[in-house]
Amino acid sequence: MSDANDSTPTLAATGDLDQHTDHGDWSSAGFATRAIHAGQDPDAATGAVVTPIYQVSTYKQDGVGGLRGGYEYSRSGNPTRAALEEALRSAEGGGAGFAFSSGLAAEDTLLRAVLRPGDHVVMANDAYGGTYRLIARVFGPWGVEHTPVDLSDPDAVLAAIRPGQTKVIWVETPTNPLLGVADIAALAAHAAAAGAVLVVDNTFATPYLQQPIALGADVVVHSTTKYIGGHSDVVGGALVVADGAQLPVGLDGPTGTTALADAVAFHQNASGAVAGPFDSWLTMRGLKTLAVRMDRHCANAAAVAAFLEARDDVPQVIYPGLESHAGHEVAARQMSGFGGMVSFRAGSAERAEQICARTKIFLLAESLGGVESLIELPARMTHGSVVGTDLEVPDDLVRLSVGIEDEADLLADLAQALA
Ligand SMILES: *Cc1c(COP(=O)(O)O)cnc(C)c1O
Repeated sequence: MSDANDSTPTLAATGDLDQHTDHGDWSSAGFATRAIHAGQDPDAATGAVVTPIYQVSTYKQDGVGGLRGGYEYSRSGNPTRAALEEALRSAEGGGAGFAFSSGLAAEDTLLRAVLRPGDHVVMANDAYGGTYRLIARVFGPWGVEHTPVDLSDPDAVLAAIRPGQTKVIWVETPTNPLLGVADIAALAAHAAAAGAVLVVDNTFATPYLQQPIALGADVVVHSTTKYIGGHSDVVGGALVVADGAQLPVGLDGPTGTTALADAVAFHQNASGAVAGPFDSWLTMRGLKTLAVRMDRHCANAAAVAAFLEARDDVPQVIYPGLESHAGHEVAARQMSGFGGMVSFRAGSAERAEQICARTKIFLLAESLGGVESLIELPARMTHGSVVGTDLEVPDDLVRLSVGIEDEADLLADLAQALA
């Protein structure tokens, strides 16, 4: 598409790789193989086995409109970003992938594409604080209404749907920081019946452990800052749209189609919150090792959860892999592992703060999903923005992002901090 005029961007010109690289067909390969190879064929010019960082804003045209590989301007399309977008599309089993400068930029772009003033969103009552802030405090003043509900109860979701007005059901599973589990297939049926778009924030589970599109989601959202990037060195976001997914019933897309992917492609270019080439490259590097990292995150988190649950001085441990977790059966059905996040109640806000101050390997920091273990107090850190709302979290809740260090060292660190 041309940035200089108002012509309609198409997927082929903005995100789809078919015309960008002669990539192999990896569709029948396993997850780890696709994460390493999909969209990432050796560089055609040099044979470089890693996709280069195309740190460039514009592309020489062979005569007016004579674009090489469809590239014209790097907001609209960039080869490094396109490689990441194809890798993410393949990882989630979707029809089109889009990379953004942050998870919230991805969310903002999606919501602009699917909502209009007067529309209504059903969302988790323990959603990520930034998602809640975006929907309530940015989209709210533009006339979008929302209802927080317990997503682990499909009947509560059904009751919250306003026929004709609810256009989005926004699902997080497991949730942050209370690790609630929602039944994606059950909610997909409710969304389809309502003509609404089912969005699943798959940041905590990752596509390695959970495939929301196969369970009926229309679009998957990621903060790639977390597990996909995996090394706490880059902020990014992504959308993967299911093949054939449509806009909410009754909404005409900006490109003359009702395809959700076309609307997202248009808005990605029109609003422009794209991932830069270096950030795309770092994120792709992280994705290549996602499978092996997640195996270790899951094993270490299971050990930490069991260790905490065995202690008398920890009133409650929340981990979907524990049989004591209310969502354990649903999680076991729709996830291939239970992830690397563990939350627990310390008994009092004072004790929670002391524990956070005492750990040595678990670093006191926001964010999650990196190779290093982190500890935090959601009520005063990541979820400070939801204090006083329906989404307020208990003040003695401690959240652990269990990294991939040696299990014995992690357990010893927690033991000395709890003592
Ligand atoms: C961090 C996070 C986001 C927001 O992503 P950013 O990259 O920080 O903008 C959204 N959802 C979940 C579940 C997150 O953990």
